[in-house]
Amino acid sequence: MTGKLFCGECGEMLIGESGTSKSKRLYSYYHCLGARAHKCDTRRLLKEDVENTVALLIFDSLKERKPLMKSPTASIAPKGRTLRN
Ligand SMILES: [Zn+2]
Repeated sequence: MTGKLFCGECGEMLIGESGTSKSKRLYSYYHCLGARAHKCDTRRLLKEDVENTVALLIFDSLKERKPLMKSPTASIAPKGRTLRN
């Protein structure tokens, strides 16, 4: 997802990297380009955390789109009511 994520602190791009921890476990994370340039103090963000957050944001935006998709149905509903009355 590199190139699509930006730091909430400084607005610089977040770059995905991976490395190994002391326990030799491979892990992936994102870091802020601004932090590399000492413009920002955002620390490394675990890829898992970032992607969970992104998934939540996508989920939220899908939820927000629902009312728009419902609006044609909503305009039909009053007609149905008139017929029933
Ligand atoms: Zn930053």
